Amino acid sequence: MSFDTLSAETAENTEAAVEETEELRFADLGIDGRVLAALADVGYEKPSPIQAATIPALLEGRDVVGLAQTGTGKTAAFAVPALSRLAELHDLNGPSRKTQALVLAPTRELALQVAEAFTSYAKHMEDFTVLPVYGGSAYGPQLSGLRRGAQIVVGTPGRVIDHISKGSLDLSELQYLVLDEADEMLRMGFADDVEQIFQQTPEGRQVALFSATMPSQIRRLSKQYLNNPAEITVKSKTTTGANTRQRYLQVMGPHKLDALTRVLEAEEFDGVIAFVRTKMATEELADKLKSRGFQAAAINGDIPQQQRERTVEALREGKIDILVATDVAARGLDVERISHVINYDIPHDTESYVHRIGRTGRAGRSGDAILFMTPRERYLLRAIEKATRQPVEQMHLPSAETINNLRMGKFAEKITETLASEDVSVFRDLIASYEVEHDVPAAEIAAALAVMAQGGRPLLVQDLPPAPEFQKRERSKDGFGSRGPSRPLTEGNATYRIAVGRRQRVMPGSIVGALANEGGLSSAQIGGIDIRSDHTLVELPADLSQDQLRSLSRTRIGGELIHLELDKGRAPRSEGGYKGRNDRGQGGFKKKFDGDRAPRGGEREARYAGHGDGARKPRAGKDSGHRDFNRKGKW
Ligand code: ADP
Ligand code: MG
Repeated sequence: MSFDTLSAETAENTEAAVEETEELRFADLGIDGRVLAALADVGYEKPSPIQAATIPALLEGRDVVGLAQTGTGKTAAFAVPALSRLAELHDLNGPSRKTQALVLAPTRELALQVAEAFTSYAKHMEDFTVLPVYGGSAYGPQLSGLRRGAQIVVGTPGRVIDHISKGSLDLSELQYLVLDEADEMLRMGFADDVEQIFQQTPEGRQVALFSATMPSQIRRLSKQYLNNPAEITVKSKTTTGANTRQRYLQVMGPHKLDALTRVLEAEEFDGVIAFVRTKMATEELADKLKSRGFQAAAINGDIPQQQRERTVEALREGKIDILVATDVAARGLDVERISHVINYDIPHDTESYVHRIGRTGRAGRSGDAILFMTPRERYLLRAIEKATRQPVEQMHLPSAETINNLRMGKFAEKITETLASEDVSVFRDLIASYEVEHDVPAAEIAAALAVMAQGGRPLLVQDLPPAPEFQKRERSKDGFGSRGPSRPLTEGNATYRIAVGRRQRVMPGSIVGALANEGGLSSAQIGGIDIRSDHTLVELPADLSQDQLRSLSRTRIGGELIHLELDKGRAPRSEGGYKGRNDRGQGGFKKKFDGDRAPRGGEREARYAGHGDGARKPRAGKDSGHRDFNRKGKW
């Protein structure tokens, strides 16, 4: 996103002046010289609007709530003043190895990214250590890092709590606490952890809370733990960069792969992220693209952290061009050369769409976002246009003719290149004698060789059958918002049963929190939640790993083991694995359900209807259970 496209607006009680960001330079903000020098090194020319507004307030020592969309430069907005103050403290009091700044981030990727940013801005500060700590990795190196002393710790809330309770993280001299992507952190169920951490920090520490949105939970946190914060809102005219062009392509499921290859052939791309819904799909699609000659790789939550980092690095360096990713794995990814985001599978909600396409158009470059959409998904377009406040243009599949012309051009180019760069004399002689011996014209021989060079793959493609025209806009009666039981199972998902329900007073929040923390799931992977009297049905990816299942089966909510297991009442939608249950899952329950239309006594024990469109809607007013989850604009 180019910062020029942002207009800063003052919120009700914004106190910083954010009007004249145009002429402001970093040097005008009172930043320590060592940090200024580092900013020049990384090549930032002028502060972004959120930086221009929050840096002075934070340097003054005020608590700050900063609200701005992804890609607006929030990291430097808190890192620069933090480092600037720590540098001055260092001058005043001499070196200290105690932890002085703590940054909380929702995922390990983001923690790492923030830690990297801190490291680069601290480049000219002597003796400064930035340590990322996050779950899912060994304690050993983190412990020794903490023992050696790190002035800045960046971590995920769960792991930070662990270190606090182990005694390995000492916050007694903390000056500065940052919550990055606070809304996402709470959505992932970290609210309790965050509050606990707040309570462990010394009185008088400065707090910076950054978030894309301001749900009431955050307002409450801010009221309770921040000291008269300056609230700074930077609204972008569009939530996506105006320099990101959005298009959609209507395509039937079975033709998606061919469509993707064609789009990739016809578009001028640099780096690409293709988003899919499941971990399995990341590997499958990456493999298929590789076999079609693209430099592709998969990242998903099951791939070990280090390998993921290597893959992202390979993308950054151009060793691969296409990353096939799930939402979780790619969240917050910042790779400048990403020119295209392909929504191969449609995202779960508008918010993930915005996050996804925010991976392109970085650092002032232009970007392209292409959404693959089946005819049934068309109604979602409006929601996306509303969320991004920007039209999504229709794009047409490059025709066979276009592709074939491109391919023939490329083929000819390869011949020219080979003639120019290779020694072809051995083959020339061979062909010459073949020509004489078999009395075949050279063009014929060349054609045969071309077939050989293609290795059996046809050079030319044929037109795909067109996707059928759009049906009328259909929309479930309960709107986009339902996360309830009537919501059709998402492809690749299955229904699981956990052994706690209303009787144990579980709330959807604690379920999402537990699943996210213990199973390493993102909130986007957690679908419908239907709390029954003594159990709960939850929609989760059908391909949970053994590890995830094991740790989830040991998970407790409110002290009770949840005994997560596949629910036998409803089959997953994907082809894999559970086919045998279809008859029970759909027909059986549906019938039963139809015969039991009116649930009695206010207790909604209606069975799952099948996942057809006729599925029943949750009743308004009785389902407070799910409503908590509709904040994200689920569709
Ligand atoms: P956010 O946290 O708001 O999503 P980031 O802090 O990740 O945004 O910044 C987005 C991108 O913009 C990063 O590549 C970052 O290096 C770059 N950036 C940040 N501040 C500036 C600036 N003042 N000038 C140029 N680029 C910047
Ligand atoms: Mg950020």
